[in-house]
Amino acid sequence: MQLNQRRRTEFDATRVYEYPAHLRAAVGEIPTAPGVYVFHGEEGDLPLYIGKSVNLRHRVLSHLRNADEALMLRQTKRISHIRTAGEIGALLLEASMIKQQQPLLNQKLRRSRQLCSLQMQDGKLQVVYSKDLNFATRPDLYGLFASRQSALQALRDLADLQKLCYGVLGLEKLAKGKPCFRAMMRQCAGACRGGESREVHDARLMNALDRMRVNCWPFSGAIGLVERHGEDYQMHVVRNWTYLGSVVDPKSATAEAKKLARMAAGFDADGYKILCRPILSGTAEIVLL
Ligand SMILES: [Zn+2]
Repeated sequence: MQLNQRRRTEFDATRVYEYPAHLRAAVGEIPTAPGVYVFHGEEGDLPLYIGKSVNLRHRVLSHLRNADEALMLRQTKRISHIRTAGEIGALLLEASMIKQQQPLLNQKLRRSRQLCSLQMQDGKLQVVYSKDLNFATRPDLYGLFASRQSALQALRDLADLQKLCYGVLGLEKLAKGKPCFRAMMRQCAGACRGGESREVHDARLMNALDRMRVNCWPFSGAIGLVERHGEDYQMHVVRNWTYLGSVVDPKSATAEAKKLARMAAGFDADGYKILCRPILSGTAEIVLL
């Protein structure tokens, strides 16, 4: 009796995490190569989830690690995929597809229309917005944030860590001739009460901010970033950290890429996150367009 019960429990557990029969054949046809995959739901074939991998089949098969994923697979009617020639292409395509299609089960990516940063203006840090300022070309921006609140919180955290003065930073109004609130608790090193000079305070601030600096787009125009995977070739067109699309035929790549390069390109936070390292480290194959 006890043995039967245990068997039944084991059976149930495997059933829950078994790959759904209606998807098994389709998974076998997914290539073991880089790209983006989409789980489509019953209703209107809408995407439930969009993901990326350097090995599509392996990644799609691994979506069965917990009850939530098993449930997602049971709700999935079919799986589609788009090949890319490498990891960067997969990351760029995934980010742009999630932004356009907003699948139900992807965590909400940061909405670029709300993007904020901290800018030094006349010795004071101000919260600035990407709708007012081209973040790709300003050399004096620090940090990327989803809201004014999170930008100010980052500044408070930095001040706490470096014992900077909330008053001097404009985070707290100073009463005339009085030190800031945190100076009394020794959490401010004392720029507000002569405990340290403004120069020493500001040097510590700039040193800490420098690690958060937003990198300017380092080219005068658009570039093509080339990826290859066996026979596959892609040139990703990017300007101002914004992904404008990819071309796949190496023979006509530069000419086709130049057409894509004419599109408008403001600053894009996803593109920035994906492309900073490969571009600034010099490891990527880059063509100036
Ligand atoms: Zn102070």
